[in-house]
Amino acid sequence: MAYKTETLFRDDAYLKTADATVVAINDRGGIILDRTIFYATSGGQPGDSGLLECDDGNRIEIAATITGETKDEIIHVPAPAQAALTVGEKVKLAVLWERRHLLMRMHAACHLLTVVCPFPITGASVSEDDSRVDFDIPDAGFTREDVTASLMELVRADHPIFTRLISDEELAANPGLVKSKNVRPPVGTGKIRLVCIGENGTVDSQPCGGTHVKSTGEIGEIHIGKIEKKGRENRRFRIRFGPAPAN
Ligand SMILES: [Zn+2]
Repeated sequence: MAYKTETLFRDDAYLKTADATVVAINDRGGIILDRTIFYATSGGQPGDSGLLECDDGNRIEIAATITGETKDEIIHVPAPAQAALTVGEKVKLAVLWERRHLLMRMHAACHLLTVVCPFPITGASVSEDDSRVDFDIPDAGFTREDVTASLMELVRADHPIFTRLISDEELAANPGLVKSKNVRPPVGTGKIRLVCIGENGTVDSQPCGGTHVKSTGEIGEIHIGKIEKKGRENRRFRIRFGPAPAN
């Protein structure tokens, strides 16, 4: 049976701690809670790590967070040799915030890149020090310097980033919202989560289930490390933190 974990991080990506109850332990020792602030690996964003603390003071290190039988079931994977939990036990969650905040900044930076490069996305991967987005662009025609300058213009403008729910019908009426070439947002649940940038989402709006910072200014300084050719029509852009290194 698949469980449905309440995803507190979807409404507030800034929650660093929360209380939860153990609802199941799967056959591989994965911990399923009634609610969580831990993002599970999905959509190119890696899952969170952190700690679960029991009432008796026992601490369980969580090495990874993944989805289970369905996307709604979130599994907290303990590091090796951690104390065992029992179903019904209350725990306090603490996400490894430093890493998660880097991922939120990077993930938001990837959205900005899709504004600067408005081409179909063929892949993306977020990590805390280097992220990549692949685009279907027949001829690059982009330089690292130009793309970096356009990204930093959006960062400095400090546009708000927020989410809003739309219906399947609203998405169907606005096919341009979907920027991914191969991945379609899940429809049929009635609501699709849009991540919007700028007043009323005028800078960008696209379906996304990940975690992002609340304004583009919070991303901080970023640059394009590399633009690589991946196949005839694919270009891979790598985003890094900090100023571009001098040539
Ligand atoms: Zn996103």
